[in-house]
Amino acid sequence: MKDKKEITLGDLPGVGAATCEKLAEAGYNNVMSIAVASPGELVEAAGVTESVARKMINAARDSMELGFESGDELMKRRQNVIKITTGVKSFDQLMGGGIETGAITECFGAYGSSKTQLGHQLAVDVQLPFDKGGADGMAVYIDTENTFRPERITQLAKAKGLDVETTLKNIKVARAFNSDHQMLLVEKVSDLIEKRGLNIKLVIVDSLTAHFRAEFIGRGTLAERQQKINRHMRDLAKLASVHNLCIYVTNQVMAKPDVFFGDPTEAIGGHIVAHNSTFRIYLRRGKKGTRVAKLVDSPNLPESEAIFQITEHGLEDV
Ligand code: ADP
Ligand code: MG
Repeated sequence: MKDKKEITLGDLPGVGAATCEKLAEAGYNNVMSIAVASPGELVEAAGVTESVARKMINAARDSMELGFESGDELMKRRQNVIKITTGVKSFDQLMGGGIETGAITECFGAYGSSKTQLGHQLAVDVQLPFDKGGADGMAVYIDTENTFRPERITQLAKAKGLDVETTLKNIKVARAFNSDHQMLLVEKVSDLIEKRGLNIKLVIVDSLTAHFRAEFIGRGTLAERQQKINRHMRDLAKLASVHNLCIYVTNQVMAKPDVFFGDPTEAIGGHIVAHNSTFRIYLRRGKKGTRVAKLVDSPNLPESEAIFQITEHGLEDV
C-alpha cells in the first residue's frame, strides 16, 4: 500500500504540531498508522475529540489505497512475502517454504517441546542472505521467561557460518516483566524501525501468554484477560503487515491439569490467540529425542507433520 500523494501526519485535518508530537510519542509516526487506528485509540493517544479523530482517520484512509484489491494485485503483493528457514527441510516444506513475513506464526506445545529453540534458530536464520533462506534482517526477541541465551545464539551462528558478534548485535532482546510491559515493548518495535531505521524482519514473543496466565487468575478476570490478549495480537498483526515482518509467538500448553487455572487441555488464550494467528504449529516430543511439528492451522496449506532434532548446530533434519 503506497501513499497516493506524499502526505505526512501534519497534513491531516486537526493535526497541529502539538497533536503531531503526541501522536508520535504514542507510536503513530506515519499516515498508515492513523489509517488503521480506531477513533478511540487516537482520542486516548492525542487527546483529540472523537469527531476530530474520525476526520483524521478518514483523511488518512482517503490518502491511501486502502480499498479493494483484485486477486492478481494480491498475488503480486504475496511476492513480497519472505519465508525464513527453520533450518529443517521438512519443516520448511510443511510451512510452504518457511516462516512467512506479514503473518503471525504461533507454536504451542508442552514444556521442552522446542518452542524457545525455534525462536533462537529463527533469530539467527532471519539474518542469512535471501538465497540461504534468510531475510537479510534483524530480530527482536521479547523474552518473558528469561530463557533467551546468547550462548545458544553463538552456537547457531557458528553453525551457519555467520560472524558471532554481528549476529548477536542484530538481535535486540528485551525482558518483559509483566503483560503491560510486554505490550509496550511491541509498540516500541515500530520506533526501532521508523526512528532508528533498523531492518527488523522478525519479532519473537516468547512466551506470548505466560504473563497473562500468571496475572489473570480466576474467572472474574478472564474476560479482561482475553480482551488484553486480543489487543496484543492485533498490535502484532498490524506490525507484521505494516512492516512486512515475521511474528513468531510461543504458547505453552499444560500437559497436566493445573489446579490454579481453568481448562487444562486448552492453550492459554484459547481461541483468541488461535483466531489471530495466521499459522499454528503444535510442537511435541517424538521418538528418540526428536521433536514433531504439526501444522494445525493455515490459510493455504494442508495439515501435515515434520520431524526434526535439536543438536549443537540447531534444528536439523533427522
Ligand atoms: P520450550 O521452549 O518448548 O519449553 P525449549 O525450546 O527450551 O522448549 O527446548 C528445550 C530442549 O532443547 C531441551 O530439551 C534440550 O534438549 C534442547 N536443547 C537446548 N539447547 C540445546 C543444545 N545446545 N544442544 C542440543 N539440544 C539443546
Ligand atoms: Mg520456552
